[in-house]
Amino acid sequence: MEAHGRTPTRRALLRSSAYLATAATGLAATGLAATAATATTAHADGRRRRAAAYPPTHWIPASTSNYRVSDRPTAYPIDFIVIHVTQETFPDAMKIFQDPAKQVSAHYMVASADGYIGQFVREKDVAWHAGNKDYNNRSIGIEHEGWVDEPEWFTDEMYASSAALTAAVCDRYGIPKNRDHIIGHVEVPGTDHTDPGPLWDWDRYMELVNGGARVTRAHRGV
Ligand SMILES: [Zn+2]
Repeated sequence: MEAHGRTPTRRALLRSSAYLATAATGLAATGLAATAATATTAHADGRRRRAAAYPPTHWIPASTSNYRVSDRPTAYPIDFIVIHVTQETFPDAMKIFQDPAKQVSAHYMVASADGYIGQFVREKDVAWHAGNKDYNNRSIGIEHEGWVDEPEWFTDEMYASSAALTAAVCDRYGIPKNRDHIIGHVEVPGTDHTDPGPLWDWDRYMELVNGGARVTRAHRGV
């Protein structure tokens, strides 16, 4: 999303977290993804491998004026994941996605304090987040609550939750888990946006997406 000069405070973080707890209670019935422990994907050569499971997500629909209904991946292949930073609090960004005048949305948004994931647009539909029609058509957009110049918003919980989501999306559509396909908004051709900014820890994020923590444990023989 676009940058606005705003300074978050600890109080704002806490307010955001309390708000989300309330929202989550009202949306408990939507957490179906949480029940799926693992998924198995069949491959052309007959081998089967474990695909990453979706982390718990919470359905908070955007205004139908803020995205385009489609039937991806039939209409368009899903080739990219675009990483954003909101430049808003989670509740404020949520209000923007629900305002039919805004003409903007993302498929998912991850909260700073606890990694809570809201889903605003179905993956089959085209969210308006990249500012580039071709990239919107072929991507999943993930927003992260915070500001590009304030890395304290990028918590362990946020990185872990977002990386689990990205890994699951990659497995679902066969997207390679590399930086050619998991890109920042700043890397979308023609954009004037800078998010997620130089303080976003791409090395850490990509290691998490690729299951780096599990590999480390395995190497120790645990
Ligand atoms: Zn963005």
